[in-house]
Amino acid sequence: MDAAAARSRLEAMIEDLDRSIAILRGESPERENAPADAGSGLSEHHRVEAALDALRRHRAAVRGALDRLAAGTYGRCVGCGGPVPEGRLEARPDAARCVPCQARHDRRGR
Ligand SMILES: [Zn+2]
Repeated sequence: MDAAAARSRLEAMIEDLDRSIAILRGESPERENAPADAGSGLSEHHRVEAALDALRRHRAAVRGALDRLAAGTYGRCVGCGGPVPEGRLEARPDAARCVPCQARHDRRGR
């Protein structure tokens, strides 16, 4: 994947994430103030917060990939400096690590 293609995919991902974040933000207070069944309203609120959290983390990862693209280090593993396989970047354009480094990173906990 060349840099221009990667950039346009990453920018499209940011737009999608921003849209999803805006929708979830709009949902959250509305549910919170729902008068009926405070218990399920609360868990709904937590569900939305958890989803927002995941979206924000993903957005940060995509932004990081755009930064690496700008710095000319895109496609290089931030763990070992080796190349991130093309197939992995196709599936996850925001991938920062090669598969073994990501596995090690995940085991350590984020
Ligand atoms: Zn690596």
